[in-house]
Amino acid sequence: MKNKRTGTLISIQDSLVKARFYGDVIMGETAEITVDGKKLQAEVLQITTDPKNEDAGIAEMQVFEDLTGAKIGDTVEFKQDALSVLLGPGLLTSIWDGLQNSLYPLSEQDSYLKPGLKAPALDEEKLWEFTPTAEIGDALKGGDIIGWVMEGRFEHKILVPFTIGTCILESIIDKQSLTIKEVVAVVKDEQGIRHELKLVFRQAVKSPIPFKDRSIPNKTISTGVRVIDLLAPVSYGGTVGNPGPFGAGKTVMQHSLCKYALADIIIMAACGERAGEAVEVFKDFAELSDPSTGESLMNRMCIFGNTSSMPVAAREASVFIALTVGEYYRYQGYNVILLADSTSRWAQALRERSGRQGDIPGPEAFPMDIPDQIKGMYQRAGADSATGGSLTFIGTVSPAGGNFQEPVTQATMDATGGFWGLSQDRADAKKYPAIDPLVYTTSVYDSFISWEDREKILQILNEANGIDQTISTIGLKKVPVEKYELYQKGQTIDFCVLQQDAFHELDACTRPERLQIINQTVQKLIDQPMHYSTEGMDDEEVKEMIKSKFDNLRQWWKEWNTYAQDEEQIETLAIKIDQFILQEEYAS
Ligand code: ADP
Ligand code: MG
Repeated sequence: MKNKRTGTLISIQDSLVKARFYGDVIMGETAEITVDGKKLQAEVLQITTDPKNEDAGIAEMQVFEDLTGAKIGDTVEFKQDALSVLLGPGLLTSIWDGLQNSLYPLSEQDSYLKPGLKAPALDEEKLWEFTPTAEIGDALKGGDIIGWVMEGRFEHKILVPFTIGTCILESIIDKQSLTIKEVVAVVKDEQGIRHELKLVFRQAVKSPIPFKDRSIPNKTISTGVRVIDLLAPVSYGGTVGNPGPFGAGKTVMQHSLCKYALADIIIMAACGERAGEAVEVFKDFAELSDPSTGESLMNRMCIFGNTSSMPVAAREASVFIALTVGEYYRYQGYNVILLADSTSRWAQALRERSGRQGDIPGPEAFPMDIPDQIKGMYQRAGADSATGGSLTFIGTVSPAGGNFQEPVTQATMDATGGFWGLSQDRADAKKYPAIDPLVYTTSVYDSFISWEDREKILQILNEANGIDQTISTIGLKKVPVEKYELYQKGQTIDFCVLQQDAFHELDACTRPERLQIINQTVQKLIDQPMHYSTEGMDDEEVKEMIKSKFDNLRQWWKEWNTYAQDEEQIETLAIKIDQFILQEEYAS
């Protein structure tokens, strides 16, 4: 242990402070500022020499906690470590603030988080049964497995910390139960330094945990959301930006994914959203059950709750911390989905900081390098063929006024493989989820349905949209009957398939099997002209008839979405469509 290195505050400007220090301080290391006996966490952003005293340095820091009460002369202690997260068993089911302070014990102490209040990141009392797998004399390196514990239903591998290079295992305990505070093994590195290993270790958050063998994501996730799984699928290890104006359904979408997306582990970084919203999430999710196991949803989750009432700088930290936890489980071979809501609030934190630092601003006052920072974040997602794990990153973007031209949305579009644009018009019309089927991208080709089928759906939606515009500008009269039929088909696909009620138990989630049945029906509807007699009717009357037939179909189908569960009920969709096309009488 080196000597304690300290400094004193010489300037305070919101969350940005400067301290004079003597000795070595490095960029990126963390510091603690003592304010009225409380220790506030900070990170060193920049170091310069003191113009008034060449023996001293000036460290510019951002403080992650509320600085109320801080004054010039307060003591700063530099911690040598970079901003880090504690990794180990107990991560799942946890709820933290943006600095990995557990929110459970804190909420017992007080109804909300106070600055400087610290709660252990992971439960220090809980016993874990450790089963060793490495043997004395084994040559190991950072990331190698020395044993495991069961974390719920997950085999949680205990790793040599990534900071340790080549080493030899000198001792390891036998199978036994112990807490995260106890030593399980000792390794000796090439410099002859001994390291005591526990069930947990700290990991710096700003540089990624390495891949063993990075591979191209190629397995599609069943998200349960039809418009996504049909048209805009995402793969394990993929990235998606999900921008939308306020109220368009970003958070509801994230919650749907959280509940229904098939993955081993879900990490939520609730970043800068309304405090009430975050609290609801915590309560809600504790009561919900995991679709694949029936257990509590929290057993496969952890949440970083960073509401708008917490200091801005902590938002920046929370995304990195969440990414690192995701990478850790990927390294263990699990499929992890990281949901970040909203990355715009994260970017605003960077903007506030760079503004205070006096950087030359880029577009809309965001830092010049915001595209690189966003890219850097999404690049940490990916699949690993050596471990079989993946980290999928789905981030919402909340552009002011829903303007997708703004820098964060644009940079996100560049950085991500998929792009789900939520439309104000669709949200206003209550067409949820409001992903605009004409404004999205995906990097996944064949998935639950073929590329050709998808193209056909898109084509009809596009044409229907064009006809819709014709109708609203020059009127229905000018639309030929067969175009009107096509328009009705497009409307039906949109209304009955793409729109989905996130709050209806059955409708909220559609699995691939059901999706394929729906797609077959949709393809039939697209391909086949309807058989009906138009005898004695003029065009307007025919259109009216078509409309009423489609209205009936839509009503029937919408209901089917909410009740059809067993095989027989599900089958009625195909029967219904055949009858509809032939215009036979059918019972409902
Ligand atoms: P945002 O996060 O984009 O500001 P929210 O996700 O909070 O918006 O959504 C706003 C409201 O829209 C929700 O409270 C809900 O009433 C409605 N909504 C959004 N998506 C759906 C959906 N898939 N099904 C039903 N209602 C939805
Ligand atoms: Mg929201």
